[in-house]
Amino acid sequence: MKDPKTVFDAIVVGSGPGGATVAMDLSKQGQKVLILEWGDNDPKKGTFFSTLPRAFIPGKTLVMTKQAVPIVRAITTGGSSMIFCGTAFDPPVDMLKNYGVDISAEAEEMKADVPMAPLPDELMGAGPNAFLESAVDLGYDAHKLNKFIYPSKCKLNCQRCMYGCPYGAKWDARNFVDKALENGAKLITRARVKKVIIENKKAVGVEYIHNKETYRAYAPKTIIAAGGIGSPIILRQSGMRSAGYDFFFDPLVFVYGKIKGLGSGKSVPMSSGVHFEEDGIVMTDFNMPQMQKIAFDLEVFKVKQAFSYADTLPIMIKVRDELGGAVSNNGWVNKPLTKADKQKLDKGSEHAKRILTNAGATDIYRSWKVAAHPGGTVKIGELVDSDLKTKFDNLYVCDCSVMPQEWGLPPTTTLIALGKRLAKHLNRPSS
Ligand SMILES: Cc1cc2nc3c(=O)[nH]c(=O)nc-3n(C[C@H](O)[C@H](O)[C@H](O)COP(=O)(O)OP(=O)(O)OC[C@H]3O[C@@H](n4cnc5c(N)ncnc54)[C@H](O)[C@@H]3O)c2cc1C
Repeated sequence: MKDPKTVFDAIVVGSGPGGATVAMDLSKQGQKVLILEWGDNDPKKGTFFSTLPRAFIPGKTLVMTKQAVPIVRAITTGGSSMIFCGTAFDPPVDMLKNYGVDISAEAEEMKADVPMAPLPDELMGAGPNAFLESAVDLGYDAHKLNKFIYPSKCKLNCQRCMYGCPYGAKWDARNFVDKALENGAKLITRARVKKVIIENKKAVGVEYIHNKETYRAYAPKTIIAAGGIGSPIILRQSGMRSAGYDFFFDPLVFVYGKIKGLGSGKSVPMSSGVHFEEDGIVMTDFNMPQMQKIAFDLEVFKVKQAFSYADTLPIMIKVRDELGGAVSNNGWVNKPLTKADKQKLDKGSEHAKRILTNAGATDIYRSWKVAAHPGGTVKIGELVDSDLKTKFDNLYVCDCSVMPQEWGLPPTTTLIALGKRLAKHLNRPSS
């Protein structure tokens, strides 16, 4: 007989935006939820050194592709939202409808749970203002972007969004995990799920490693939400061999320029931007923490520039890449950039150079490539149905891996909406 302490109504694996939303909404409906999270739940200090083990460990959180493009993800409670920039792009409602997934109601409902508005003028730093003014002056459709930020808690000239905001100003998925815990959910951290236990083609629970011991937990519903790279690895171990192929990761570069007298290099990143929808390019201001800038500069041998921070205006170019590549069983990734992907990065960089030059910048240069949104590894319509159910009964997936196609924009609003929709579905008596 199973120990009742290990039996739940639902097990959620991973606590990023996808998993945390399902856990919050299921527990709100009175379900007994277990959240298993590989990372820690230590307090947010908002420092480089507290973020280092969560986001910058090569091979674990910093996944290097065979083509030497690092994919950044955070292994900690809250997932990559702990280090994300907090920009809220509207979900691709129409695109998902083509796959039988209507999240229009949930995209509205989520507004009650998260802040989603442009920063007030007084919180726009010198960098975002310089970017916006120059872009508008050149005739670009540049505007402030919606942010997952509570302005009353946010601080001007701060650079800590990407280290996990210690002031509670930036919403992250830990806000939802905390609500789930208040609703009675149980969180086990440093618990790495290895596989789903399948009996008679049905998921009945999961096997995980915690403190070097192997444990099992059981539930009539299992939701895998371990992210675009984490989920396919677990699913392959569970009998879904075709997970983890032909995905996107939204590659990006930074273009920097020096503007004499610009002032602080510290501000909320991605406060304003331009979306070239047809071209699949998005361009935003991107003030980053100083340590990150040093690392990116040294990658392209810009030693002198690495120590120039306050007067630098970084602009990010992120593109919609073509599907391709494979995630290996141990988490290594092969994802060549196609000719079209490279052309988009070049085209976006040219826009950025124009904007920097118009703003009076000199010493303009470009960073190496990086990626931050791996997704489409367990696509809707191929490996999960429109209810996010896999070929195994009782086994669902809810994170960026289910995105059915590339669309090139930050996905967090979409994942929250998908999580809300899945929680409603799972709460129906027949599910
Ligand atoms: C630097 C950066 C900036 C970004 N900025 C933005 C932005 O401004 N706006 C936006 O919308 N998006 C942004 N993103 C993207 C966004 O953060 C991610 O797309 C989002 O967090 C993905 O959510 P998820 O639920 O799919 O997975 P994740 O957030 O990756 O969460 C997966 C969770 O699963 C856990 N896990 C993994 N494997 C296992 C396992 N085997 N067992 C147990 N747990 C496991 C991980 O520790 C993690 O907590 C950014 C990302 C980065 C890296």
